[in-house]
Amino acid sequence: MSTLSASGFFFGSLGTILLRYFLFAGALDFWVRSGPRASRFDSQRIEGRKPSSGQVRREIGWSLLTSLIFAFVGWAGFLAWQAGWTKVYLSVDEKGWGWFFLSLFLMIAIHETYFYWTHRWMHLPRVFRLFHRVHHESRPPTAWAAFSFHPLEALVEALILPAFLFFFPVHPGAYVVFLFYMTIFSVIHHCGVELYPRGFARHRVFRAWVSATHHQAHHARFTVNYGLYFNVWDRWMKTQDPRYEESFRKPALPLKPWIAPSNRPVAEERLKPELMEHPNSVLTQPSASRSPDQSPSAWQ
Ligand SMILES: [Zn+2]
Ligand SMILES: [Zn+2]
Repeated sequence: MSTLSASGFFFGSLGTILLRYFLFAGALDFWVRSGPRASRFDSQRIEGRKPSSGQVRREIGWSLLTSLIFAFVGWAGFLAWQAGWTKVYLSVDEKGWGWFFLSLFLMIAIHETYFYWTHRWMHLPRVFRLFHRVHHESRPPTAWAAFSFHPLEALVEALILPAFLFFFPVHPGAYVVFLFYMTIFSVIHHCGVELYPRGFARHRVFRAWVSATHHQAHHARFTVNYGLYFNVWDRWMKTQDPRYEESFRKPALPLKPWIAPSNRPVAEERLKPELMEHPNSVLTQPSASRSPDQSPSAWQ
């Protein structure tokens, strides 16, 4: 493999990551928050505070850095494939469509498990300050926060992606579908508006699905709802917010209209160091014993 092809892959991959991010985050953010008809989503906003424009700029800045790190790690995966170290296969006929979809499901399930446990690790107070604090500065998050990570966290998030290629046979098509799935749901879960229908959180099947309400409670309260696509691990490990189902499609805070000028900008709150200190180690504070002062309303 020539150097040119490898560098071509790197820039192609970087361009695709950026395109996915700007396309999905940009479209959803415009639709629900900044576009001319965004006010129709006011009743579905999860929190009443308006993110500052400074917050959005920071989210985009960190996401650009994350995209670069994702492209580098993807490039390493490409070199490993070229060297014959991975289990990548190119013809769908070789394994059939059954394996194509099963491998996609496996990538999602492994990613979920990896994300849940690395996420809990990053909430250990010392690790949190270094790795994960940047992501929690988005309160409330916007769609642009989907990739808003400190470079150390971005590296943790990126390493699992090419790792699949070493574990089991993966068709590049299934891998691309997985990357789109990852981006789209990350954007939806950060957009600050609950787009899923009423009853979703109590539905027999969809109750296991993470929603914007679910993930936004994590941004606000730190010690609940660590899941990425599903809340199965949260339910199993008892880290699910017990108020999740009842709070779904009901604003957690009885607020003034979302655009009320009296809303305090998030940037102002960022200056208060106590608000960005992690409340506690999740491993020493089970969800049932959390004190009420960790609720978002205490931060208003
Ligand atoms: Zn988040
Ligand atoms: Zn977190």
